[in-house]
Amino acid sequence: MKIAVIGTGYVGLVTGTCLAETGNEVICVDIDQEKVAQMRAGVVPIYEPHLDVLFERNIKANRLRFSTSLAEGLEHGDIIFLALPTPEGDDGSADLKYVLNVSEEIGTLINEYKVIVDKSTVPVGTADKVRDVIAKRASCDFDVVSNPEFLREGFAVDDFLKPERIIIGSSSERATKLMQKLYSPFVRSGNPIIVMDEKSAELTKYAANAFLATKITFMNEIANYCEKVGADVDQIRAGIGADSRIGKRFLFPGIGYGGSCFPKDVKALQKAGKDEAYDFKILNAVIEVNAKQKTILVPHILSYFNNDLKGKRIAIWGLAFKPETDDVREAPSIDIMRALLDKGAQLTVFDPEAMPNIKKQFGDALTYADSMYEALDNAEALVICTEWSIFRTPNYKELKQRLSHPVIFDGRNLYNVNDMESEGFTYISIGRKAIHQ
Ligand code: NAD
Repeated sequence: MKIAVIGTGYVGLVTGTCLAETGNEVICVDIDQEKVAQMRAGVVPIYEPHLDVLFERNIKANRLRFSTSLAEGLEHGDIIFLALPTPEGDDGSADLKYVLNVSEEIGTLINEYKVIVDKSTVPVGTADKVRDVIAKRASCDFDVVSNPEFLREGFAVDDFLKPERIIIGSSSERATKLMQKLYSPFVRSGNPIIVMDEKSAELTKYAANAFLATKITFMNEIANYCEKVGADVDQIRAGIGADSRIGKRFLFPGIGYGGSCFPKDVKALQKAGKDEAYDFKILNAVIEVNAKQKTILVPHILSYFNNDLKGKRIAIWGLAFKPETDDVREAPSIDIMRALLDKGAQLTVFDPEAMPNIKKQFGDALTYADSMYEALDNAEALVICTEWSIFRTPNYKELKQRLSHPVIFDGRNLYNVNDMESEGFTYISIGRKAIHQ
């Protein structure tokens, strides 16, 4: 099939590349000329495991190409995916300007039947808006489908190639059949393609992200309470995770959720509720607790340094909002680093992939280390913000040699508390016994 993907970010590029991998001819369109030039030169503009191999293979096979021209994409594609940003607007709602502006342009350009597929995360009613905007300008037949994306950054290629489910929101039999045909190679193992109306499809995405954000936040609250009463959140996690009604995943406490999706999507659903005079009380609490959780380590750090961080060098491991990505949008590391810098600390940071993106925001305010160990040199404490695998089993001897004091504030509970005690570290983690020595 002939496909165009409009917007070539984390979702669009993965979508385009994976659809090319199953034999479709794909054009990825983006307004960012630099990005398009990079991709044309064979460079993947984001870090996403395994994407580079598929990217290269499909470019070589002439199934994947790039353009800055929406007209070219529209002329080529029978199915046009919109993978455009829907950032948080001033009032917390999803800002639809990218989706609606492109829809307007599509309305003026379209001259034969196409299926316009909204892959961006958008509020209930957006498919109707897109349809209206296009219909006002177009003279030919077309369909609008809602097809929310559930891929996880860091596992995006795997998730796209082997999705647990595909949601198609469509009221058109013709468009539904095309979408089912397009996605059939991805569900050969029997995972469902669930067809529903557009509004339900749009809300399914928000419900999924809001539920996951709530699950994380609930566990963070249990962890915070553990610290008050001397219980161990790891044991509680094992205890409740064994219950199949609860499940083992998303029960790890930490320094809150970040990223380009959960924060804005939870807020957008809260605001969408308000617009209908519905108060999502549970989401109000999730947003409030998560905002606090992101800097939950800061009071511990201040108390360790007797409230005086002036001139203190602190190492930061992990900047991305989660491992296996270079995405730093809404990353807890940002809130922690801002709080520490405000208090006069000097920060040396290391992340395997996210340093260039953090540098765009922090510039020379941080020292950027070439390795995780180099970041420790002369630091009086280490703060861990992202659970990258390489941080999981460090050389404790080297850690102690390089740090001027063996002190770790672990926002991701990477280490065993008893091990840290016997290794001689002062070790503060989330929802577990604090070790002071
Ligand atoms: P992104 O910011 O990484 O990429 C968006 C791309 O769209 C950018 O490259 C930008 O240059 C391009 N763009 C902007 N305006 C354009 C225009 N007029 N024409 C062509 N291109 C244009 O965003 P993303 O993370 O890929 O997210 C896209 C959508 O998918 C959002 O709604 C997001 O909520 C949703 N989503 C994201 C994820 C994720 O993990 N990132 C997962 C599921 C859903």
